Amino acid sequence: MEDVKRMDRLPIRVTIWNEHVHEREDEQVGAIYPYGIHEAIATGIKACAGDDVVVRTATLEQPEHGLTDAVLRDTDVLIWWGHVAHDQISDPIVDRVQQRMLGGMGLIALHSSQGSKIFRRLLGTTGSVRWREAGDREVVWTVCPGHPIAAGVPHPFIIPEQEMYGEYFDIPQPDELVFISSFSGGEVFRSGCCFTRGWGRMFYFSPGHEAFPVYHQAEVQRIITNAIRWASGGSHARETPYVAEMSPAGWFEDRPDRGV
Ligand code: ZN
Repeated sequence: MEDVKRMDRLPIRVTIWNEHVHEREDEQVGAIYPYGIHEAIATGIKACAGDDVVVRTATLEQPEHGLTDAVLRDTDVLIWWGHVAHDQISDPIVDRVQQRMLGGMGLIALHSSQGSKIFRRLLGTTGSVRWREAGDREVVWTVCPGHPIAAGVPHPFIIPEQEMYGEYFDIPQPDELVFISSFSGGEVFRSGCCFTRGWGRMFYFSPGHEAFPVYHQAEVQRIITNAIRWASGGSHARETPYVAEMSPAGWFEDRPDRGV
């Protein structure tokens, strides 16, 4: 069973991918995230999960955007932060991430990653949102309190300043909706959404605009860490996408190990 992902084996291997453009080009963003958004997220995860996870980072400017076959094979959960450079992601890398995700890798898409190629590829919609960059107060409400991603998250919690993301958000109906947000302007948004694609689990979480210190906030770090555990998959997750076989009549009668 070579393609069966080992589960219950800690640590969970996490790769944080960040385009890493705003932090280098915008002084205000650079002051909030001097080492990049990816490093801030990594610090938060380590604070919450300790030795339960090993974290590596990857950025756009690296060869193959830092997402080589070897890196993805060694990744249980990929975190994605992108905004202005969505179009610079090469399509073969998008294909590669998609294949790994269908095979069982978890994917956590953050904030403006709703416009990324991989997000739109996996969900099949535009991912378009209504937005306003005016420092709205965001209130994040738990709407699925028993969900593992909501564990230990205060209800509600407040992000003092955030970019407003409002409905309509062009996504398929999520398999599970864990958080909704409201904004001081009155808008609401599905801010924490779970999807399953193939053997992979995907979580979208909208807080995280680059001009506000959202990833330094404890509640946000807790949610991302919970999502890593959830997205790292079930005991039967695969390493490669499923490919069905031609199946003559009776194929299942004498196969005690039959799966899908
Ligand atoms: Zn933003």
